[in-house]
Amino acid sequence: MAKSVEERVLGLIRGEHLVRRGDKVLVSVSGGKDSAVVAWILAKHAEELGIDIALLHMDQGIGEYSQTALKTVKTLAETLEVPLYVHNWEKEWGKAFHAVAKRLHRAPCSVCGVLKRYYQNILAKRMGYNVVATGHNLDDSVGFIINNLINGQVEYISKLAAVLPETKLTVRKIKPLFWIQEHEIRRFAREREIPVADKNCPFQKLAPTYKIRRAFDDVEAARPGTRRAFVRNVMKLVSGANHDERTEPRACKYCGAPTNGDVCAVCRMKLRVGVEPGKIIMPERVV
Ligand SMILES: [Zn+2]
Repeated sequence: MAKSVEERVLGLIRGEHLVRRGDKVLVSVSGGKDSAVVAWILAKHAEELGIDIALLHMDQGIGEYSQTALKTVKTLAETLEVPLYVHNWEKEWGKAFHAVAKRLHRAPCSVCGVLKRYYQNILAKRMGYNVVATGHNLDDSVGFIINNLINGQVEYISKLAAVLPETKLTVRKIKPLFWIQEHEIRRFAREREIPVADKNCPFQKLAPTYKIRRAFDDVEAARPGTRRAFVRNVMKLVSGANHDERTEPRACKYCGAPTNGDVCAVCRMKLRVGVEPGKIIMPERVV
């Protein structure tokens, strides 16, 4: 009998030391199945792992999709009996993020990705959490690798890992579902009746990785284990590459986030759309 999703996730958490006793873990929840499953597993085993957890949700202000997502994460937090904090993007930016993306002449998914990673780190730091957990799964890694190969950004692939250790400017980032496929997560969420939003992001199909991920469904069906082997072998191939020549990031002069220049990517976006850089509205606790 194959090991369950839960056993495999706990095996990774313990085996690769994703968390340590005394850690304060902020789980970034979107309302979707992946992050909900991470929250569910971590909350269920928080005591034996010796960790303290809370959920962070970013209200992106995408109409009905965001309203459903918010309602779902509230139910999730109530079910798991853990605190839920909500960060409202529109409040901080004065307009919906896809309007921000339009002003910057950028695709909504690319702006959304940058903002999510930025807020996960900076909010965790300011809220006193030392770890951020996300719902990234094996299908995400396949999409990430191929997309970066196509774009010639091999150095990004070398940073792909289930755990990224903390640095002076960043909290530890962990991906407990790193080796789990999307369809396994969907089934697990359904079987455990974990609260999951029934709506997908309306921009989902615009994401550059969407078609790549779906193309792998056929390959995986014909040769089970393909995704796992692909990600493992690419990681082997790039390990040790491109690590030493990268310069140590500096702190953004406005917000303290890591950047290679003086001003981080998000503060630069804020300057371009006329929002005060460095000013961050803290999330509100709703559960
Ligand atoms: Zn900044």
